[in-house]
Amino acid sequence: MEVTFLGTGAAFSPHAYNAAILIDRTILLDAGAPLTVHLPKAGVALDEPRAVMLSHFHADHTFGLAWLILGRVLHHEDTPPLTVFGPAGCSAYLEQLLDFAWGEEMRRYSWDRLKLTVHELSGGDAFRVDGSPARAYRMRHTSRLNCLGFVMERDGVRLGYSGDAEMSAELEALVAASDHVITEMTYDEEAGGSMHLGRKDVEGMMQRHPSTRFIITHRGSNGSLNGAVIARDFLTLQLPL
Ligand SMILES: [Zn+2]
Repeated sequence: MEVTFLGTGAAFSPHAYNAAILIDRTILLDAGAPLTVHLPKAGVALDEPRAVMLSHFHADHTFGLAWLILGRVLHHEDTPPLTVFGPAGCSAYLEQLLDFAWGEEMRRYSWDRLKLTVHELSGGDAFRVDGSPARAYRMRHTSRLNCLGFVMERDGVRLGYSGDAEMSAELEALVAASDHVITEMTYDEEAGGSMHLGRKDVEGMMQRHPSTRFIITHRGSNGSLNGAVIARDFLTLQLPL
C-alpha cells in the first residue's frame, strides 16, 4: 500500500498544508490540501482518485474538494466517477460547499459529469472503498459535528485513520483494529487538550498498542515523537513499514 501525504498540518499550522492523504493514487483521506496543485505535484492526475473519505466537515479537511471536483471536470473530458464517503449530512454539505464555491449551475454540472455518489456513514458501518473493505468509527472531536475515523484493509495492511479526535474508547478500538494507524497530534505540549490529541495521548496509545505502527499527521508544530513516523507534506510511505 502506498501512502502519500498531500497535507499534514493542523488547521492553522504555519508549517504544513491542511489534511489530505492519498492511498494507492486512488483513495483520498480528507481533502483539505490544495489538491489541484498537490496531486499533480505528487505525479497524480486529477482524474485518478476514485473515492474520497471525509472524516468531518471542518474547512481544513474538506475545502480542497471544491477545487478537485470542478477542476477535474474542466480538465478531463472522460473523467471517471467519484464516490464520497462521509458522516451524516455529507450530501447536503457538499452541495453547500460547491454552491458557495462556484454557484449552483457549476455544482449541478460537475455533480452530473462526475456521477458523484455520496455515502453517509455512522460509527460501526462497514463499507467498501475502491474494492477494499473498510469500517467507520465514531470519533469524539466537536459535539456540533458528526466525526468519523476509518480502518481499511488493503494489500494485507489494516490502515487506520483518526481524522480529528480527542481520546475515546472508539479511538482505542480503531487503533486496536489497525496494524498501521495515521493519527493526529495537534498539541505538541506534554499536556493534551480538548478536541484533539496531544503528545501524551499518542504516547499512551503507543504503549497500549505496541504492535501498531504510528504515523503522525495534523501536526500543530514541527516536533518529533520517538517510535513514530512523523508525516511531512509530500512524504510517501510504502506499507507495511
Ligand atoms: Zn476538525
